[in-house]
Amino acid sequence: MKIGLVTCASMLDQVRQIVPLIPQDQFVIYPVLPCCLFAISGDTIRNQVDKSVLANEATIIIYGSCHPELNSLLDMYCDSNIRKIEGNNCWEMLLGPERVEKYLSQNSWLGNNSFLTKWNREVSKSFGSETRNGQVASSCGIEELTAFRFESNQPDEEIVKREAQKAGLPYSIHNESLDYLKNLIQSAIDKAHIENEARIASGLSPKAELIPLSLLETMKEIIYIIDNSGKTVTFISPIIEKLLSITTKEFKMTFLSTQNKGGYLYKKRSQIISKRSAFITDCLERGFEDPLKIEYQIINGKGECRWIRETLNPQFKADGSIGAFAGRIEDITEWKTTEQQLTDLYQNEASLRHELETQIQNRIEFTRALVHELKTPLTPIMAASDTLSSGLKQEPWLNLAQNINKGAFNLNKRIDELLDLARGEIGVLQIKKIPIDCIELSADIIQYIDAKLRKANLRLVFEHDENTIFIEADPDRLRQVLLNLLSNAIKYTPGSGLIKIKCFRTSTDVVFQIIDSGIGISSSDMAYLFEPYHRLERDRERFDGMGLGLALSKRFVELHGGRIWVENANEHGSIFTFTIPTLTPVKPEHLKLGYKNKRKSYEAAVN
Ligand code: ADP
Repeated sequence: MKIGLVTCASMLDQVRQIVPLIPQDQFVIYPVLPCCLFAISGDTIRNQVDKSVLANEATIIIYGSCHPELNSLLDMYCDSNIRKIEGNNCWEMLLGPERVEKYLSQNSWLGNNSFLTKWNREVSKSFGSETRNGQVASSCGIEELTAFRFESNQPDEEIVKREAQKAGLPYSIHNESLDYLKNLIQSAIDKAHIENEARIASGLSPKAELIPLSLLETMKEIIYIIDNSGKTVTFISPIIEKLLSITTKEFKMTFLSTQNKGGYLYKKRSQIISKRSAFITDCLERGFEDPLKIEYQIINGKGECRWIRETLNPQFKADGSIGAFAGRIEDITEWKTTEQQLTDLYQNEASLRHELETQIQNRIEFTRALVHELKTPLTPIMAASDTLSSGLKQEPWLNLAQNINKGAFNLNKRIDELLDLARGEIGVLQIKKIPIDCIELSADIIQYIDAKLRKANLRLVFEHDENTIFIEADPDRLRQVLLNLLSNAIKYTPGSGLIKIKCFRTSTDVVFQIIDSGIGISSSDMAYLFEPYHRLERDRERFDGMGLGLALSKRFVELHGGRIWVENANEHGSIFTFTIPTLTPVKPEHLKLGYKNKRKSYEAAVN
């Protein structure tokens, strides 16, 4: 059977020693860098697993679960004849958990040939400090460097000594057998055989078919192969002629050349060539590497500038050594253009958003300053006229003082309305919900307008089915809505009329209705009534106001998630209705911060 061994490169030498001892089967080794020293991605492992699964009848993973993505990655291959040998890290796979435990209990940092020679650079960097070899040798309190001799595979004592001296540690070299790892591999092979037979018996193909080379020629990707010296291009997909208008001959001649003379014309040739050749040198020195991924621009055979994404991978021979390098070239110009367009759009949107935010901020500042300027002179007028009205007994002075007082309070209310409207327009109007009893709130308002009702010679009836109706709402805003509607009802109902307030509950809402027997509103006017500054022609001269009360009431109701509308009453007059949703009904016992506790003195005057 043909078996692929995806092997942690730290054990490559040992796996190579074991493989010739196993008869009958044929092996291909796919090395993967150890994740304890290199930050390799799950994709890098997957790349090797993919290759093995495509080319072999079974795949055995000789890699520790120290890579966090390994197990979930293997789940993706559940249909293939694939298995991982036991062991959380390379040392557990080489020596077995008991022996590893023994060495680690002596606070040893464990090393073999590869750790001490090929990855000397990385090991030195991490040695004794924040070593990524953490699963094997704990990073703190290392007291000894322990190197291993696996049968004929000898570590160079000079190297072990040098590393130990660098870290200021004693060292020791131990002889170990490869039996443990050999048994693990052998038992995985036995299981693979059983599964293979079962697959054949059930009619399943033991391995996926390899992609035929002819397919490469029709694929949109350009594949190239460089020999293992890294100096000659041995293959290039003929599709390059169609995709980049460069002949295969031109490509072969110029791709690796440092001269920028025709053919594959790089924009920053020397940088790209040196990146690629550094990668190849590194791979050859160490035996493997993470794939190289680079993006750059070239001029194609038609003289057009194209964006290229190139990916380069080492290709391994059956013994795990590098046989060649396989690369992929993709023309990503369209993708890059779209990416650039998206970046431009995003930047454009960001600057517009910034501009808008500045405008909003300026408007808020302006409104604040305006309100402050208007209110400053108004406050002493309100206070003085208050004192005058309560102090004066004689007419006509009392009447005059009361008029000044009423005018000042009205003006103050208008300024508050303007401020609320501005806040609503720029989206900063907010409500603060607390549990409140709608019946208590309505009764409170009725009491507040009692004098006004009497003066206008109007009768008011309050109808409610229950004694308490609790909801979560902003008491100040709800009070403002009710006062607006009631003030309008009083204003637009002639003497000896009747006003009704109804408050009741439906399955989803609390409903308030203010019904008057006044002059009513025509159907054509109803459509615009809730728009700011909209006042009926007939009322402009007769009544004061700015046409903001209903617009604001609508905003406040909607901020609570409710609705407000007007209808004509049966005979004459109007019915204003608004709803406040009761998504989370409030029980009286939960009423901790009730409306009563929070009640503020009401400053604004009723019209
Ligand atoms: P204002 O401050 O002008 O009263 P509103 O937004 O409260 O502003 O009302 C807008 C207009 O709607 C009023 O000018 C009036 O013409 C009309 N209106 C409001 N309520 C009533 C009502 N109960 N009966 C008749 N007309 C009304």
